[in-house]
Amino acid sequence: MALVNENFLKLPGNYLFSDIAKKVNAFKVIHPEAKLIRLGIGDVTRPLAPAVTQALHAAVEEMGNEETFRGYGPEQGYRFLIDAIIKNDYEPLGVKLDPDEVFVSDGAKSDTGNIGDILRRDNRVAVTDPVYPVYVDTNVMGGRAGELGEDGCWNNIVYIPCNAENNFIPQLPEKRVDMIYLCYPNNPTGTVLTKKELKKWVDYALENEVLILFDAAYEAFIQEDDVPHSIYEIKGAKQCAIEFRSFSKTAGFTGLRCGFTVVPKELIGRTADGQKVAINPIWNRRQTTKFNGTAYIIQKAAEAIYSPQGKIQVRETINFYMENAKIIREGLAETGLQLFGGVNAPYVWLKTPNDISSWKFFDRLLYECHVVGTPGVGFGPSGEGYFRLTAFGNRMNTQEAVERIKNWKI
Ligand SMILES: *Cc1c(COP(=O)(O)O)cnc(C)c1O
Repeated sequence: MALVNENFLKLPGNYLFSDIAKKVNAFKVIHPEAKLIRLGIGDVTRPLAPAVTQALHAAVEEMGNEETFRGYGPEQGYRFLIDAIIKNDYEPLGVKLDPDEVFVSDGAKSDTGNIGDILRRDNRVAVTDPVYPVYVDTNVMGGRAGELGEDGCWNNIVYIPCNAENNFIPQLPEKRVDMIYLCYPNNPTGTVLTKKELKKWVDYALENEVLILFDAAYEAFIQEDDVPHSIYEIKGAKQCAIEFRSFSKTAGFTGLRCGFTVVPKELIGRTADGQKVAINPIWNRRQTTKFNGTAYIIQKAAEAIYSPQGKIQVRETINFYMENAKIIREGLAETGLQLFGGVNAPYVWLKTPNDISSWKFFDRLLYECHVVGTPGVGFGPSGEGYFRLTAFGNRMNTQEAVERIKNWKI
């Protein structure tokens, strides 16, 4: 008899986006004529940069040619891409990395989820709340979360609330933890940590031997100087942090699939009997066994975003989204709604007025403005009373949604 991993049975269904879809469908039946505007999705909408599609075409031709055909590549990624990453993403920050510290992957979702493979089940996990659900759910699957309580929290996970009261700056946990997920710029709140604030976390992690799992998927959206693009800009971070990056939001690769993870060779963990072990070779072993590399043509496409043309084109798209974010922020500022994020990230996080619930706000926005967003409570208990709007829409819809909300009697 095959016994299943019962941790999977503990997981409640992920109903957030299906609940949203049901509510939107019900609305459409009642109001078939209404022009709905969707500012809820966390997916990009602009097409790939021409430099990327050219690289894709060229790589496809190579694969169809006997002389240039390639089969299995290195599980860690091709050197042409790893070298481009180090040269363009890290050297300008003053961060030196060896090629074998960078692992190309099929995206940050897989890696932030898979990292649990190499970490013992009895580590205590901390997350900021609200949170990207992958961190929590994969720890439930791995048996680290305990049981789900009435309050929506898993009893073995330490939740660090991020809300308007603390200005979305997570406090260091009072309880001892072994690993913590930090996502900055943050999804869903769109907020960031300054260098000084992130240093506080690195210092704490070094002092207490905590592993920081740093998700920098939105790094390319940072506009302000004092916001770190990589955790390795902070001294000592190579000894306590793994960094996850993705080309998904940076360059519209949500459908192509490519990202990378940095596991510094200085990063040390411990065995249960207290011996120090390097984490890099363990992750390498995991990847070479369970992962067979990102497709060659996709890695060639990713390399193209670092070409002179690619850089300009990718920047134009990011600027386009950030202009949307500005339109939302500045437009809604007049409404008196309390707004957060949207400056260094493509998400605007708002406090619902008069303490109405996230879902009540969702329903009213849908029925009274015909605008779809995402209820904050869907990202964790501390998201209750908040709401997320994304900057990934087209310009006209974004402007119109803002106009409708401005004219709305909330
Ligand atoms: C979109 C997103 C990612 C990227 O996931 P991919 O698998 O690379 O597409 C990672 N982390 C967060 C927080 C995200 O929102």
